[in-house]
Amino acid sequence: MAYEFDLFVIGGGSAGVRCGRIAAGHGARVAVAEERFWGGICVNVGCIPKKLMAQAAEYGAWAEDARGFGWDISKGPHDWAAFVGAKDREIARLSNVYRKVLEGAGATIFEAHASFIDPHTLELGGRRVTAERIVIATGGHPERPALPGAEHGIVSDAAFYLPGLPERVVILGGGYIGAEFAGIFKGLGAEVHMVYRQPLPLRGFDEDLRAALAEAMEAEGIRLHPSAIIAEVRADGASRVALLSDGAELQADLVFFAIGRRPNVAGLGLEQAGVALDPFGAVIVDAEMRTNQAHIHAIGDVTDRLNLTPVATAEGHALADRLFGSGPREWNFANVPTAVFSAPPLATVGLTEAVAAARGPVEIYIARFTPLRHHLTGRRRQTLMKLVVDQASQRVLGAHMLGEEAPEIVQGLAVALTCGATKADLDRTIGIHPTAAEEFVTMRTRTRLAGVARAAE
Ligand code: NDP
Repeated sequence: MAYEFDLFVIGGGSAGVRCGRIAAGHGARVAVAEERFWGGICVNVGCIPKKLMAQAAEYGAWAEDARGFGWDISKGPHDWAAFVGAKDREIARLSNVYRKVLEGAGATIFEAHASFIDPHTLELGGRRVTAERIVIATGGHPERPALPGAEHGIVSDAAFYLPGLPERVVILGGGYIGAEFAGIFKGLGAEVHMVYRQPLPLRGFDEDLRAALAEAMEAEGIRLHPSAIIAEVRADGASRVALLSDGAELQADLVFFAIGRRPNVAGLGLEQAGVALDPFGAVIVDAEMRTNQAHIHAIGDVTDRLNLTPVATAEGHALADRLFGSGPREWNFANVPTAVFSAPPLATVGLTEAVAAARGPVEIYIARFTPLRHHLTGRRRQTLMKLVVDQASQRVLGAHMLGEEAPEIVQGLAVALTCGATKADLDRTIGIHPTAAEEFVTMRTRTRLAGVARAAE
């Protein structure tokens, strides 16, 4: 049967745009449908505006810190509307770039909702199109908890379009979004409470990093409520009261739920195509991003694996290469670096101490210090750097950092881990002085040994 398109991509986010663009570049007849905004979550209500907001918050601290360096700067009020206007202009520019890149590659654009009619046919705003292969790249959406009064709180999409800075913010969730927005709102001048159900934020990250983040947040003046959840939200006009499971009552202007994300599969007609989902609602794929229907693929957050933009783009690129190119580009999905743009930020690559130690003996190296700058500013900001090294092979299994520039520094270290660097390789690397980064190549003294008991079993 002759199909209208070789490849139809549903979703114009990071994964879908890259897949469509590369496939079109390989000569395939490609269409991409997007119903909301080109560039998806990352560009519009995720990574990019979040980073701009974190930077907006940082400028306030820099203005205060400048005094320590002799500048007579007084931190005036923050102009929310001016900032949001600038941010929105940049987001509109970027979103347009995503669309243009697709058109420039020769892909056909549909600005409409797409849903399956049958395994090879999609309906888009009353029009039907057929495609030999279809890619589901619809991303995910923030989840709202099922608690009384949840409708009085917001989820992250709305955080980017608030009419003004709320004076008192209560955040539920100690994950990426909770930690990042706690720093953003605090830095912009709000009173911030972060409520999370674990003893420390960021479950799954290295324990030392989690503890250092909690300490750093407290030093920034963020009020932490560990081992608690919001049980109920009450509204009184524009004010909110968050009732916590530990009995505390927090007055707020904004209650912000950051409790995770769900795959976007509703309304896609996946049942017409026979595409299988897992119990969480994610599209099930194999290692080659194939669903249970061999000609239908899924990439990015809709598969709920590693929900990170660079992973989604790599998946989209690899899929397009595999289907229409001379072979997929190889990515290393084993050591995916990741960062949390908290205040200060943290970044990590490889194994945590706990995971590595469960596999065998590991040597742990830790450095903690006050960055040079803050000896003058007086700001209570510590940096933590940590290496997890396999005792037998001396390979560096994990690198973790909390502190200014952590994401920039750990990106470089991720290359070293991908290349299989050993501790000796780091040791023979000359540092750049004076930087924080040089600490990763000058950690001489082992802090402790871990995982020995297990190895002896
Ligand atoms: P996360 O999964 O990172 O964190 C969710 C948090 O909410 C956890 O603390 C979790 O606790 C808690 N939680 C979950 N359900 C409930 C509940 N019912 N009641 C109370 N607490 C609950 O999700 P986020 O929403 O922060 O972010 C979503 C994803 O988006 C991230 O996991 C990441 O993949 C991606 N992202 C990446 C960013 C980056 O790369 N910098 C930035 C922002 C998002 P517990 O640990 O106990 O489960």
